[in-house]
Amino acid sequence: MPYDKKLNQFQIAQTNKYNVFRCLVREGPINRAAIAKRLDISIPTVMVIVEDLFEKKVIRSVGKGEFGVGKQPEILAIEPDCFFYVGVDIGRGTLRIVVNNTTGSEVASMKEPTGDPFPEKEFISHVKKLMLRFVKKLKIGPERILGAGFAMPGLIEKGTGKVIVAPDFGWKDIPLQDWLQAGIPYPVLVKNSTQALAVNESSVFWTDEVHTTLCVNLGYGIGAAIITGEDLYEGTGGISGELGHCVVDREGPLCKCGNTGCLEAVSSGEAIARQAQTIIAHHARSKIAEFCGANAAGIDAKMVFDAAKAGDGPALKIINSAAENIGVGLSMAVNLLDPDRVLLCGGLMRNGPAFLDRIQASMEEHLAVKTGRLVLQAGTKDEYSTAKGASRVLMNTLWARRTLPI
Ligand SMILES: [Zn+2]
Repeated sequence: MPYDKKLNQFQIAQTNKYNVFRCLVREGPINRAAIAKRLDISIPTVMVIVEDLFEKKVIRSVGKGEFGVGKQPEILAIEPDCFFYVGVDIGRGTLRIVVNNTTGSEVASMKEPTGDPFPEKEFISHVKKLMLRFVKKLKIGPERILGAGFAMPGLIEKGTGKVIVAPDFGWKDIPLQDWLQAGIPYPVLVKNSTQALAVNESSVFWTDEVHTTLCVNLGYGIGAAIITGEDLYEGTGGISGELGHCVVDREGPLCKCGNTGCLEAVSSGEAIARQAQTIIAHHARSKIAEFCGANAAGIDAKMVFDAAKAGDGPALKIINSAAENIGVGLSMAVNLLDPDRVLLCGGLMRNGPAFLDRIQASMEEHLAVKTGRLVLQAGTKDEYSTAKGASRVLMNTLWARRTLPI
């Protein structure tokens, strides 16, 4: 076990400064004494740091406290627009961008369809152009943008932001972070989409009592990410959370990864659509056939959910089977991790509460131990959650590196 490094005076001062700043971001508006109490440091130390933050114009006074007797304490708050973070969700077909301010609040967002992801370099160049144009439109000088986080589906190498493989894009060994960085005047960071999503979702539902959150992204594909405390658990190489490629049916269909019967191959949005395409060949009177105008290639998961809601037998069978297999996959993850909370996010969760209920019933049926304390719930259903998470990952990285201009 490694020993804790002994901190020198400079490191202690830096740690205190970052903690005061963080306390103001998370718990402000707040007065000096309350910061000192919360961080267990002396009031004079807080006073020196606050003076410095005032000088750098990253905090402001928002008046005096309104209760108690005697001298009313000055209330401090973060200057929300002192700097900004950009988050970009590179989705298959749609690009979503958010710009967040110092406190993590959204300043602006946009989405735009993207074309074919080939040639890769041109596609990435297009993404960059859209992002820079959007930021320019907001009239925020590049010196006030601290960086841009990009979320990309697929296996992303930890540290380098290289795409090892992105099956939905057909990409392999793409130095995405390096290509994005060329021409962007602030730091760029690439993270796996589900990991970025989990960072945002867990922060939305964050409480002091939740220690471990498993976030599952149920969309065109299936992925998961683990948050312990407030930190993302990435695994040794950054490729943890591949719940979609856990085998739930050894006799199942072939998966893109080369295995058979992966959870993604039987329960993802793509798998649901594919099963429906096969089924309507034998059930011409199915509601699915009606919804897709007999164009089997145009079927998507939402049509199958809509048909199931309208009582269509074949559609119900597909949806229930998908939910049951997700429940099996979740039971394995919960047996292994023992989380406090499981958040179910992604496009499939936008189809009503019955899907969640079915998943929960299946998961509970297969759990080794039913503790009664595990919370399974739907996430925010915010279509910008992944982009916000990418921006938050970037922000957390800059905090960890102690490279904020404070
Ligand atoms: Zn697979």
